[in-house]
Amino acid sequence: MPSLATGIQRLKPSVFATLSERMKSLPAAPLPLHIGDTFHLPPPEARLENLELEKHPEFYRYAHPFGQPALLSAIQAKLARENRLEVPNDALQITCGATQALHCTVLSLFDPGQTVTFLAPYWPLFGGMCRSAGLEVQELPVTDRLYRGEIVDFAQFLRSRIAPGARGLYFCNPNNPDGYVYTRAELEAIATVAQEMDLWVISDEVYEHYIYDVEHTSIASLPGMAGRCLTSFSFSKSYAMAGHRLGYLTGPLAVMGAARRAANHTVYNVSPSLQFAGLKALELSPQFVKRVARDYRQSRDILYDVLSGYAEKPPAGGYLFLRLKDEKTAWDLIWAALDKGVALAPGAAFGDDYAHCIRVCFTSAPPEDIARAADVLRSLLA
Ligand code: PLP
Repeated sequence: MPSLATGIQRLKPSVFATLSERMKSLPAAPLPLHIGDTFHLPPPEARLENLELEKHPEFYRYAHPFGQPALLSAIQAKLARENRLEVPNDALQITCGATQALHCTVLSLFDPGQTVTFLAPYWPLFGGMCRSAGLEVQELPVTDRLYRGEIVDFAQFLRSRIAPGARGLYFCNPNNPDGYVYTRAELEAIATVAQEMDLWVISDEVYEHYIYDVEHTSIASLPGMAGRCLTSFSFSKSYAMAGHRLGYLTGPLAVMGAARRAANHTVYNVSPSLQFAGLKALELSPQFVKRVARDYRQSRDILYDVLSGYAEKPPAGGYLFLRLKDEKTAWDLIWAALDKGVALAPGAAFGDDYAHCIRVCFTSAPPEDIARAADVLRSLLA
């Protein structure tokens, strides 16, 4: 047999695969606190059963590869209103989740052998996208240190550690897995260093609506940054539509021309009926997003009450990121929790420095189930 591509051989099997065998042997499905999903359904008016899709025979055809015009306009207005981003219509691409949005950045910006610096811990799929494209990933542990107040001069910290010659900087704001939200001053530090080192900045903002205690700022809205920032957003988290695989990318016009070609040559177009669902959700956005965030905040508090000795209190996002003594202690807890019906995510997925950590999702089950999981974890940690 001929050999596989070099890039694909750089993709490691998901660490979740380790859990799946044991899960199969459990008498009942565990509470899925290892994944990053939600128990909520989309707003009723945006659910497929209420959309009268039969009135749109055109949805069975190929659609425009950039996205449906009505959805593009609604997103343009949302970006201006909520993110302070004035984006021309040509600088938007509807994608198959933020996942494809981020993949378009890899295809558009980087060549094999180049380095992208990730502020860690980080969302693992982007690491896989970069590695399979032949890029080098530099992991820079940051948000755990920012939480602990260990970094005094953030710009100097970045300047002295980002690999010389790096081409891009990826970070997630709010962060997955630890819910960190960068302050405006920290974003300004990133902006300063990105300008000095001439870096592309990839800002992953899929958790922009899971905000509990702080303000969220899109780095592309800072002076001078619109020309070097690519920002990914998602309907998965904001409107409880992860299965629809709907997201979008925005950035400088010249890059977006390339990203649109990348999208066109990979997925061609995202399902128009699902874009229609996304449009309905966006129209209802403010009330829905606020209500859902209230639930998540309640669940965060339930879980944090029990786990405050092990994690920072995340001001945003969907997870607590626990620090255990070492990797073995972390795995012991993962297996013991699984035997008691609670699935947790191993920290090693989120960067080389985090094998002693565990990510616990508090949005993938209702608050009463989160309370049950909190009791299990309390008894196991006692
Ligand atoms: N970025 C981060 C940080 C995520 O956590 C996820 C999904 O969990 C994604 C991107 C992908 O989002 P989507 O479902 O829109 O592809």
